[in-house]
Amino acid sequence: MDGTQILTLGLGLEAPWILKDQHLDTSVSPHRLDLYVEAERGSLYPCPECGKACPAHDFADKTWRHLNFFQHHCYLHARVPRTKCPVHGVKRIEVPWARPGSDFTLLFEQAAMSLVKEMPVLAVSRQLEISDKRLWRIVHHYVGRMLGELDLSNVATVGVDETASRRGQRYVTVFLGGGSGSVIQRGVLLRGVARAKTHGQSGAGDHPR
Ligand SMILES: [Zn+2]
Repeated sequence: MDGTQILTLGLGLEAPWILKDQHLDTSVSPHRLDLYVEAERGSLYPCPECGKACPAHDFADKTWRHLNFFQHHCYLHARVPRTKCPVHGVKRIEVPWARPGSDFTLLFEQAAMSLVKEMPVLAVSRQLEISDKRLWRIVHHYVGRMLGELDLSNVATVGVDETASRRGQRYVTVFLGGGSGSVIQRGVLLRGVARAKTHGQSGAGDHPR
């Protein structure tokens, strides 16, 4: 098994996607590994609306930050097609390794969210070597999605409190669902922090405890 096969397995790439090229740049700090993913020529892609296999209309070059390769930053590059469906017209497809609009792979986001559960966002951003602003964007996306999936139909009362997250004028607004289960309480609490951040009441490193 050669290096390309190992990396392909590691990335979990499936047809039509293949690892076309790789380049480790040790002249920059931190060192970075760039992986170039392509679909095999003439591939058909599922229309995002109906799933019908369609030819590519055109391509756009996209880059995502991926999990580190050992201690080196890793970036995934791909030419992402737009399909030309006879019914739905020209549509950009979703790639299996990242959600639409994100500059990070799903695995990177998963790792980031696991860390965010354990430590403040600012500390995680330093650990991952991304800005806390970009990390907050990931956090807001997943918290928003989780809220969308929450069943709040049994929440009859909501408690609101504000607490200092640390010494000084840094506050976290906390929303608690009265009489609800712990999952709902945690979801509402997270939303409280997100809202507090939106209104500028919470520092970049604040996180619910
Ligand atoms: Zn279609």
